[in-house]
Amino acid sequence: MTDWMKAAQSQEKSYLKDLTNLLKIPSVRDDSAATDEYPLGPMPAKALQEFLKMAKQDGFRTKNIDNLVGYAEWGEGDETLAILAHLDVMPAGKGWDTDPFDPVIKDGNLYARGASDDKGPGMACYYALKYLKDQGVKFNKKVRFIVGTDEESNWTGMHRYFEVEPAPTMGFSPDAEFPVINGEKGQFSLLLDVPAGNSGKTQLKSFQSGLRFNMVPREAVAEITVPDKEQVTSEFGQFIENNPVTGKVEETMDGLKLTVIGKAAHGMEPEKGINAGTYLATFLNKYDFAGGAASFISFLAKYLHLDTRMEKFDCSFTDDVMGELTMNAGILNYDEENGGKINMNFRYPKGITPDEIQAKVEKVTKALAITVNQGDGQLPHYVDPDDPIVKTLMEAYIDISGDQNAKPEVVGGGTYGRLMKRGVAFGALMPNTPNTMHQANEFQPVNDLITSMAIYMQAINNLVTD
Ligand SMILES: [Zn+2]
Repeated sequence: MTDWMKAAQSQEKSYLKDLTNLLKIPSVRDDSAATDEYPLGPMPAKALQEFLKMAKQDGFRTKNIDNLVGYAEWGEGDETLAILAHLDVMPAGKGWDTDPFDPVIKDGNLYARGASDDKGPGMACYYALKYLKDQGVKFNKKVRFIVGTDEESNWTGMHRYFEVEPAPTMGFSPDAEFPVINGEKGQFSLLLDVPAGNSGKTQLKSFQSGLRFNMVPREAVAEITVPDKEQVTSEFGQFIENNPVTGKVEETMDGLKLTVIGKAAHGMEPEKGINAGTYLATFLNKYDFAGGAASFISFLAKYLHLDTRMEKFDCSFTDDVMGELTMNAGILNYDEENGGKINMNFRYPKGITPDEIQAKVEKVTKALAITVNQGDGQLPHYVDPDDPIVKTLMEAYIDISGDQNAKPEVVGGGTYGRLMKRGVAFGALMPNTPNTMHQANEFQPVNDLITSMAIYMQAINNLVTD
């Protein structure tokens, strides 16, 4: 049996050289520089062209589809194994200790934008495929190594691929973590409209909380007019003291401006955040609002507050293998003239549908004259753990890592794996390595990258010779 670790180590030098080349390209999607030739801006396409040039020199059949997506292909047969990686990166952002587009290795860690998402893992997987090809392994199926150039935004490239190329038999995406991710929850939002109206003694001028549907709002600001400013100010002070938030009160021309600070978190794990908006509404709920303003405040306070599992809507749901339905109240806005807009974002397992969830929400909103519309979404995705693609990948991971207890996992959302019926995500973040994707000082330990290359070697080898 081949010693895959040794094989991967033999590739380290040339792997790091080719990877460095790609990491130096700031392949951030830039719509302001888009042209007919470069629909996503020139830099993602440049990374694609560099990759395809290298793959061609390495002896692969290659194709560039509209400067959006491309592939390197090897092997023959009726079946196709697809490997889906991406060459675009998130903008660098602030706070880096080194140049994000000039890779450096410090204490065994490779630092660069894209080191762990996804150029580092993608190239480790490409090198695994190249090694097997160069060793003369006889492939019983085609392998297509497909690279997208806007995974971090709309997946335009990968969607184009699936429009114009035949669907692969099965596949995986080296753009997440080990072990195998064989399930992703579905996702959709309910968009709620609250009528305007403000006839109470206390009036809600405006309420703003949340920037994105998939983040827990960190901040909430409300402007109100009240009969007794002093009383509200002192009660607000007590509220802040008794709750896990901070905040401040400012006097305005005709009232008060209240600010609450909670804690942001990703919308797929809303329980890890502190929703500033629902806390602020909980404070305001005892005052004498009327009409739409009252509906808005009481809906947030009574139903959305601390209810990421939808218990107050009588809609909590758990699937044995895919886990719980979760809800993030990500955008909570109100203004005097237009009324309120609320975005409830859901991650749901198989076994429950958006229509069923909407019906439960409407049972509550009807009495408050709030209307509910369903936004676009994605269905839950699940590949049977007994499917050979899952089994073969799990075996390769366990053999090389020695992690005997590893089990396939279900996550809250969004990898390329869901584009294929038999598609999963596989690596390359190791369970004990910090996740620095999308952050300043993004890195991946070089040893992890080489270990992941060994895992990909065994996995691809067993998939193309079974
Ligand atoms: Zn990625």
